[in-house]
Amino acid sequence: MAKGTIGVTTTNIFPVIKQFLYSDHEIFLRELVSNAVDATQKLRTLAGAGDFDGPTDNLRVSIALDKEAGTLTVSDSGIGMTADEIDRYINQIAFSGAEDFLNKYKDNANAIIGHFGLGFYSAFMVAKKVEIRTLSYQQGAKAVCWTCDGSPEFEMTDCDKAERGTDIILHIDDEEKEYLEAARIEALLRKYCRFMPVPVVFGKEQEWKDGKYQDTDRDKIINDVEPLWTRKPTDLTDDDYLKFYRAIQPGQEDPLFWIHLNVDYPFTLTGILYFPKIKNNLDIRKDRIQLYCNQVFVTDSVEGVVPDFLMLLQGVIDSPDIPLNVSRSYLQADRNVKKISTYITKKVAARLEEIARDDAKQFQDKWNDIKIFIEYGMLCDEKFCDQAMKFALLENTDGKFFKLDEYKKLIETEQTDKDGNLIYLYATDKDTQYAHIKAATDKGYDVLLMNGQLDVPFVGMLEQKNEKTRFMRIDSDVIDNLIAKENRREVELSQGEKDVATQLFQSQLPTMEKANFMVSLAALAPDEEPVVVTQSEYMRRMKEMAQFQPGMSFYGDLPDSYNLTLNTNHRIVKEVVNDAMTALAEQLKPIDDDIHATANVISALRDLDKDGKGVPDDKKKDLEENEKKEHELRDKKNALIGKYAEAQPRVKQLIDIALLAGGLLKGEALSKFLHRSVDLL
Ligand code: ADP
Repeated sequence: MAKGTIGVTTTNIFPVIKQFLYSDHEIFLRELVSNAVDATQKLRTLAGAGDFDGPTDNLRVSIALDKEAGTLTVSDSGIGMTADEIDRYINQIAFSGAEDFLNKYKDNANAIIGHFGLGFYSAFMVAKKVEIRTLSYQQGAKAVCWTCDGSPEFEMTDCDKAERGTDIILHIDDEEKEYLEAARIEALLRKYCRFMPVPVVFGKEQEWKDGKYQDTDRDKIINDVEPLWTRKPTDLTDDDYLKFYRAIQPGQEDPLFWIHLNVDYPFTLTGILYFPKIKNNLDIRKDRIQLYCNQVFVTDSVEGVVPDFLMLLQGVIDSPDIPLNVSRSYLQADRNVKKISTYITKKVAARLEEIARDDAKQFQDKWNDIKIFIEYGMLCDEKFCDQAMKFALLENTDGKFFKLDEYKKLIETEQTDKDGNLIYLYATDKDTQYAHIKAATDKGYDVLLMNGQLDVPFVGMLEQKNEKTRFMRIDSDVIDNLIAKENRREVELSQGEKDVATQLFQSQLPTMEKANFMVSLAALAPDEEPVVVTQSEYMRRMKEMAQFQPGMSFYGDLPDSYNLTLNTNHRIVKEVVNDAMTALAEQLKPIDDDIHATANVISALRDLDKDGKGVPDDKKKDLEENEKKEHELRDKKNALIGKYAEAQPRVKQLIDIALLAGGLLKGEALSKFLHRSVDLL
């Protein structure tokens, strides 16, 4: 019998292991089972190299509970250890046996589960005493038993063990009794060991017999030793991918696409990522990619490894090159991890490009489902954005799809305005914006449908990336203003007529909470709408962007500002304005004369300010008084026009029709409109 002290520099490592090393005690099971799997794989590797000639098929790892004895045992029939090896690999814990082995079998030991650092010792997180009973595969080896009760002292003796391999026996701590519950252990095995490369056995399969479940003589195997991602993509069918998805994401609708990742230089990474079908925001969860290290489950929080915008994807990633026993912040700074993240982005973009090219129909059909991923990616990842420019689609209001450059070609000639800006027209709602859409398509323009959750920032991004490109929502102005052409018609009204027309309508505008209205005049075609309500693109977009950027909430609180545009070439508008001019001529004449005279005085006084120093002091009062007078005269004039307009049902009717077309006529205003319509009939 040998006694000794475990070779670590601190006198007692156990409190450290117990409290600080791993926050999740449960992972001891992952560590022990992976060591067992590891030892089994090593035996296979040795056999492959001709250094072991016994049978290697049917090798298994098994886990057994003995509630009475209070033990959990992990057994394998792998390479086992000699006393000397225990001394080197277990007693001198700084020594990594895996590393030693890897050096010797560099080329074919790939499958060996990597270094979890203090893997074996994690057993002490849940056990008050740990025993190792092991028999090495080596010829003439003697079985060894090692025990340690959580103090830095251990005992090592020869013992009886007839079969090759290792049993690790954990005497579970009183505070950790949950690890003696079969259900708990099975759940942990399914979580961590589900795809390990050697069969992991936990008890027997059960069958319903004589009114209860009973053990059969078949071993219950927890894992799938050859998960899909480890297989060659060329050997797999769509059905295989769908089946695998259903197994890892039970209860979800089938995915839209998938990407099989497979790279071995400059780092090793395999995996399958699925584009899920997202029905609503509640479906978006960020813990649906699982990270494995040589088929051992590590975590489902992959921040840093997978770029943020791809966290919406689901599936598995397996890489031995991701340092697992380090903190998140270290992970994010790790160069290998950065490369992996870049690779994943590139691969996803390339796969999407391939589908868009080879199966355009399928891509278009699924566009509305994947659009959110792609726009999100384009908004937050410059490189992805560059790649996605090639396959991102725009959909128009007729349901046709275009690649970005195709669409640009389509509208280039017709939709360039007089200043050389290319105007992309878009609608967010085909029904409520129908009138505006029709006005544009009647003119031969094309209108996009932009009703996605991220379309607002997406449109802003496209404007930034493409010079002289503007996106204009179809109801943000009348179409002739949205795409202003050289030969635009001017409003053919005198100043007096313009004043009357404007005030006639301004005075009758509704008062709505959080909404401002402004009247403007435009000489549209006689057959276009007489009055149109529009909402300035700039202000509306500022408000919409405020939803995405917390710093902009100021804009979100501003009132909506609408424009009421009068078509001065429309028959009814002309009539209404002419009638008002005739009816008000006599009353307005003296006021207009007064305004005119006052304006002359004001401009003469202002002319005294020749050198930019302001009006001479002795004239200031004079100027102020005249300005005040002009103001009052205009108010008087407006009041007169307003009073007249009040009695003109046609003015109100025209306004209400425009509001109705813009989806703004509601409640009492709508009811009044209906009554007035009946009266007019
Ligand atoms: P690591 O696995 O990172 O090397 P561990 O502390 O988990 O660290 O294990 C230390 C060493 O002990 C292993 O590298 C291996 O050589 C040996 N070992 C542990 N468990 C077993 C086992 N079940 N069978 C054979 N050797 C084992």
